[in-house]
Amino acid sequence: MIDLAPLVRRLANTPLATWADSLQVQLDTKMAKGHGDLERWSAALQALPALMPSHVDLRDGFTLDVDCDEQTRAQVHSALMGLSPWRKGPFDVFGVHIDTEWRSDWKWSRVAPHLNLAGKRVLDVGCGNGYYQWRMLGAGADSVIGIDPNWLFFCQFQAMQRYLPDLPAWHLPFALEDLPAGLEGFDTVFSMGVLYHRKSPIDHLLALKDCLLKGGELVLETLVVPGDVQQVLVPEDRYAQMRNVWFLPSVAALELWMRRAGFVDVRCVDVSITSVQEQRSTDWMRYQSLGDFLDPDDHSRTVEGLPAPMRAVVIGRKP
Ligand code: SAH
Repeated sequence: MIDLAPLVRRLANTPLATWADSLQVQLDTKMAKGHGDLERWSAALQALPALMPSHVDLRDGFTLDVDCDEQTRAQVHSALMGLSPWRKGPFDVFGVHIDTEWRSDWKWSRVAPHLNLAGKRVLDVGCGNGYYQWRMLGAGADSVIGIDPNWLFFCQFQAMQRYLPDLPAWHLPFALEDLPAGLEGFDTVFSMGVLYHRKSPIDHLLALKDCLLKGGELVLETLVVPGDVQQVLVPEDRYAQMRNVWFLPSVAALELWMRRAGFVDVRCVDVSITSVQEQRSTDWMRYQSLGDFLDPDDHSRTVEGLPAPMRAVVIGRKP
């Protein structure tokens, strides 16, 4: 059982207190239903040696350090391998470098300079394994709740939390749709890499806005295409081999969606083409990756002949 009492204490006397009180039951119910692989992953978590880091860096990366022998390091390595595939990272854990599919640190270095997270209560929607949650704490956030319905990512988060048990980061295995309406309790809400999976993107923006306090900020990162304010790509089928990709707007169209959803001070702070150095197969993620999803003769196209992945970061404020 995961004890959410520290989270309840953290959220006491905030607009989220009532919600926090309901979370333990919601989590226990969800965990009781579980997932076929949960036992295997729990065994991997159990196999992690008991260590406490003597050095923690979450500001310039994710690094935990302690003096430990080769055998202990091998134990860490093998337990963490048991939680493969690792997609978001990298993580440096007691000398073990988890070389994840994504260089999420590159994305973070494009996002972080545009934010002031000091003292902020943060929600990360679609947080994956929580990589950014730790980096948000490293950037001074007061507390970070991540939600993501994927059980493997949930277990990967538990692996890191095991070595950082006192930090104010929590991962809940919920979808955004599992949160009650009208939460209005977070200073900053992130949605990174989620919008293009939504059939109804403007409803997604409205649901994110609903989680924010008045004056709070949404940080949205998603796939975009070149074009003007009325340009939106809807793939006929797969996009870069991904199923369930629905809407890829131009940056101008995305900004318009944000304004129509009621955000103000909407601005795009970054547009980047995803390189095959940023997303690739590694020992920790052995499946195919971006290089296999691009046209081998023309990296500006996906294998389906659509524009290659380009991602934008847009920030807006709830008035
Ligand atoms: N935010 C991370 C991960 C993006 S991958 C990053 O930017 O690198 C998209 C994630 O969204 C997946 O982990 C998936 O499980 C999660 N997701 C998909 N639908 C969701 C929903 N309705 N609510 C919350 N998370 C969702």
